[in-house]
Amino acid sequence: MFFMGVFGIAVKEEARPLVTVFEACPEPRLVRRCKFFHFFFVPLYRWDFEYFLQCRGAALLKLKKAAGERVWKSPREGIATRDVEEEQGMTTCPVCGRGLEADYSYCPGCGKKI
Ligand SMILES: [Zn+2]
Repeated sequence: MFFMGVFGIAVKEEARPLVTVFEACPEPRLVRRCKFFHFFFVPLYRWDFEYFLQCRGAALLKLKKAAGERVWKSPREGIATRDVEEEQGMTTCPVCGRGLEADYSYCPGCGKKI
């Protein structure tokens, strides 16, 4: 197709460290995922924002959208367990902190057995 690669839809993921979060979540990070429409790789429009709480060595927790937006704007705000919508199948490596799919047996980052 003629316009191939000039514009399209892609998924973008950004993360920022959090200051305070509920217990049992060492080194918390807030991950924001969205779809965006780009033209020559310049994002023109973003939508479908999703927020996740990533804890080192623990499951990825999907946050309720309102809570995710609030903490994304002011990362010093805390996240409570009631802000969590569901637990995702993805975890992070306890050694290097890299995100893992649920069916991985070994970490692709450092090779540790999960
Ligand atoms: Zn690792």
